[in-house]
Amino acid sequence: MSQPAVSDALNALSSRFSGLLLQALDAGYEDARRVHNGLIDKRPFLIARCRNTADVVDAVGLAREHGLEVAVRGGGHNVAGRATIDAGLLIDLSLMKGIHVDPTARTARAQGGATWGDYNRETQLHGLASTGGVVSTTGVGGLTLGGGLGWLQGKYGLAIDNLRSAQLVLADGRVVTASHDENADLFWGVRGGGGNFGVATSLEFNLHPVGPMITGGLALHPFARARDVLRFYRDATASAPDELTMFAGLIHGPDGSALSGIIAAHCGPVSDGAAAVQSIKAFGPPVMDALGPMPYTAVNQMIDAGYPKGALNYWKSSFLRELSDDAIDAMIDCYARVPSPMAGIIVEHAHGAMTRVAVGDTAFPHRAAGYNLLFLTQWKESADTGACITWTRDSYAAMQPFVGSGRYVNYLDDDEAGDPAADAYGPNYARLRQIKAKFDPTNFFHQNQNIRPAGQP
Ligand SMILES: Cc1cc2nc3c(=O)[nH]c(=O)nc-3n(C[C@H](O)[C@H](O)[C@H](O)COP(=O)(O)OP(=O)(O)OC[C@H]3O[C@@H](n4cnc5c(N)ncnc54)[C@H](O)[C@@H]3O)c2cc1C
Repeated sequence: MSQPAVSDALNALSSRFSGLLLQALDAGYEDARRVHNGLIDKRPFLIARCRNTADVVDAVGLAREHGLEVAVRGGGHNVAGRATIDAGLLIDLSLMKGIHVDPTARTARAQGGATWGDYNRETQLHGLASTGGVVSTTGVGGLTLGGGLGWLQGKYGLAIDNLRSAQLVLADGRVVTASHDENADLFWGVRGGGGNFGVATSLEFNLHPVGPMITGGLALHPFARARDVLRFYRDATASAPDELTMFAGLIHGPDGSALSGIIAAHCGPVSDGAAAVQSIKAFGPPVMDALGPMPYTAVNQMIDAGYPKGALNYWKSSFLRELSDDAIDAMIDCYARVPSPMAGIIVEHAHGAMTRVAVGDTAFPHRAAGYNLLFLTQWKESADTGACITWTRDSYAAMQPFVGSGRYVNYLDDDEAGDPAADAYGPNYARLRQIKAKFDPTNFFHQNQNIRPAGQP
């Protein structure tokens, strides 16, 4: 890039740009360059904090004309740090948080930088919801474009299963709609294909009546009972109704004690929820039982405090072939050696509506009922980085006899061997590469879990 030419272009752009254009010495740059994962420490040449679609078009144009590498930031939660970049242009959507709800049509449109907290707050004004992340600070954009697991997945499918349309700014600056009726191939691709095709300036969802009160919370047991807890979890999930989504975890409590537990949400009427979680409450007895009626918005914030911005993160994840007794024992053995009390091993149950979508209907291919395993390693001190990363890698290696072939794209880390996109997309990968070649033939958007355009190595 030619520095004077970029400076001239920046000056010209600043006269019409509605948002903020931040460079290293500008106030706000340091804060704006940070993402959720404190391990990521990148310094973009320019941060374009867009306020509207026209800003995004201009930012894409600036990058294209001056050969700048581009990263796109929605909620900034991607653990691999794909939402920022060294030296290039960061298109930051975090000022674009508008949510418009149409309660009659039961639809909501979210701008590309909204978080699930923003979304749930607005949609719950009307007693409506659609599947979103279990931590309220996660972005609607990145989570949805990768698939989107959440508490409502058993009843209403993944976030993408509720997506009606997306407005995208393509690499050539065109603003297009992707829906069943317009650019249907692109719509298929954005439902799981991540940020590979363009910048999603807004996403439109179907809504469903949920809450305001539902049933949710945690039942925790001593780590010494982890084997029984995880076996009970396996049995309980086998007969769970669609309304009840349950995750299990090996975690630490605030007092530093190691625990095993089940976290659950039932999105139906509270009386049905009470009956559905009764066996979880009765099993044990738990050392802590915080399962009961609570507002839907609170269910979606109940573990927020466990995932503070700036904590250091390194994750590994795969779908399990089955949650066998041996897999359970191996998990417990791994967790017995965990070096950080902030680290957890999580098992996420897939069932119900999300499994009744065919593998080829959306780009997200993981439609079988079963379990996803997630080593969610967090720690505070950089001195612990080596031990925490090593533990995660060793533990993930120890679980290899039990994992299946698929991996969730939104949980992939930055140092995956081979072609992680191939693992993430399986039978849908070839079609995604064709769509990438059609809508982003130069691979302009490649700071993501990259889908290489068809015909390119
Ligand atoms: C604490 C925590 C909790 C999580 N919980 C869940 C969960 O419950 N369910 C689940 O499925 N996943 C969960 N995840 C994983 C999450 O889905 C991914 O981290 C996802 O990438 C986050 O989206 P984001 O917009 O916050 O991230 P970002 O880091 O901003 O973006 C992630 C990727 O998507 C791209 N992107 C983001 N927004 C746009 C956009 N508008 N247009 C184009 N590209 C875009 C970015 O360029 C980047 O490649 C969680 C992650 C964390 C850290």
